[in-house]
Amino acid sequence: MEKKLFIICCIVFILCVFVIVFSWPEPDEYNDMKETEAENTICDLSSAVLPETLDDDRDICVDTPTREYGEIATYMLWEEDIISRILYPNGEAMHLTHSIEAWIEKIASYYRYEISQWSEGDNPSELTVEYSSYSINDNLVSVRMYGIFDDSSLAHPVDVIATFNTYVNQNEVLQLSDVITADGEQILQNMVAEQAGVKKEDIDGVFLQYWLLTHDGLEITLARGDYLPMSDGTRTFFFPYEELEGMLSIEITKETDADLPETPLDNHIAESISGQKSGEIGGSMLALTFDDGPSAYTDRLLDTLSEYGGHATFFVVGNMIEDRPELLVRMALEGHEIGGHSWSHRDLTKLNKEDIENQIIKTNNKIQEVSDVSVTLMRPPYGACNDRVKNVAADLNVSIINWSVDTLDWKYKNADTVYKSIMREAYDGAIILCHDLHKTTVDAMERVIPDLIDQGYQLVTVSQLMQTKGINMRPGNVYSKAQ
Ligand SMILES: [Zn+2]
Repeated sequence: MEKKLFIICCIVFILCVFVIVFSWPEPDEYNDMKETEAENTICDLSSAVLPETLDDDRDICVDTPTREYGEIATYMLWEEDIISRILYPNGEAMHLTHSIEAWIEKIASYYRYEISQWSEGDNPSELTVEYSSYSINDNLVSVRMYGIFDDSSLAHPVDVIATFNTYVNQNEVLQLSDVITADGEQILQNMVAEQAGVKKEDIDGVFLQYWLLTHDGLEITLARGDYLPMSDGTRTFFFPYEELEGMLSIEITKETDADLPETPLDNHIAESISGQKSGEIGGSMLALTFDDGPSAYTDRLLDTLSEYGGHATFFVVGNMIEDRPELLVRMALEGHEIGGHSWSHRDLTKLNKEDIENQIIKTNNKIQEVSDVSVTLMRPPYGACNDRVKNVAADLNVSIINWSVDTLDWKYKNADTVYKSIMREAYDGAIILCHDLHKTTVDAMERVIPDLIDQGYQLVTVSQLMQTKGINMRPGNVYSKAQ
């Protein structure tokens, strides 16, 4: 029996080596949609060898984040080999922001270096990280960064984790030894090892490195494959403060009734939407679409649209909604269309069926919850789509919308370039790809929107465009223009 276990461990180890040695080719939000095949020989090999449960706990990326501290900040980098998309909190504790940013720089350059060593494919790898944050009291905050590094040649994405705990009014993040006695740390280590089934001899100095204070207790996370079999995934162990009595060296005073964001929902929203949509439509028209929001600039974009009377379609990222739910309410009220752009901006072609479903359902539910809009459209991140994605979309009753005009606004980050590219390439029936994540894009819209209208275009939503042009969109089908 032990021998068998040893063999399985060896196989897992060899797979880990594969993980470090192979690489992945290009998705392309920015070229025309293209079928990307996620499966490859290494995937097949792994599923043959490892238990089927291997993929089951990928939902680390579709957890609903708790965000009690700071404003959401983004680190986004599109490079040829790797697309990094990281959300993190930026609040009053500057030392915390700096520590998190230093960690981000470190992992981003680590993976950039890794793929430079073995990348041979066309599609970039993905580094996708988000966070939860806790304001335990006025002064004590904690942050859990969690996500994945994914690459086509990996049997499974690598789980990326970090935790930060700190007092806002101090200058350094806390070490575990700052909050727990030496004896306590030993006891905690034994408790985690026992619950996780980790042998004493496998424990090293960083066994408890991912520790996090929450409102009710202390969490210890063991990353996938670190001390546990890969098939166990990343596991978190929770110890209520009551259980740690006598072990903690700091006083944790809880704050009750943390302010929960109110959902600004109103029954008349649906009526307003139908009211706004009933204007006359005909002649030349096109659909401006905005991905990756809602962001800090979306409000201004909505102002511009409202000033000139244009409508747009927003493909929102699920985990961005919680911070700005009021913007979705406004979009709906002002007659814009809202579609999903996945929960955590994953390349859906790299996920299994269940994870694709999670990414879409969770996003659509969130949109519905905050804005009362029932979602019928989705745009897959990078425009990346394969039969599996289409089948899931068909099952979930959503049509897939890509684009026919790409502004490359994410790349040039220049308002004038965005303006010129749209004015040059606009045509009747076009679906234009933009990102309301960038200030320069929203700047450009202050000229684009009035000038398109001056040229006789009606700015309509994707559904209005399709309907008016007589295209009956079917769930699971891909549309990139109305012609
Ligand atoms: Zn996107």
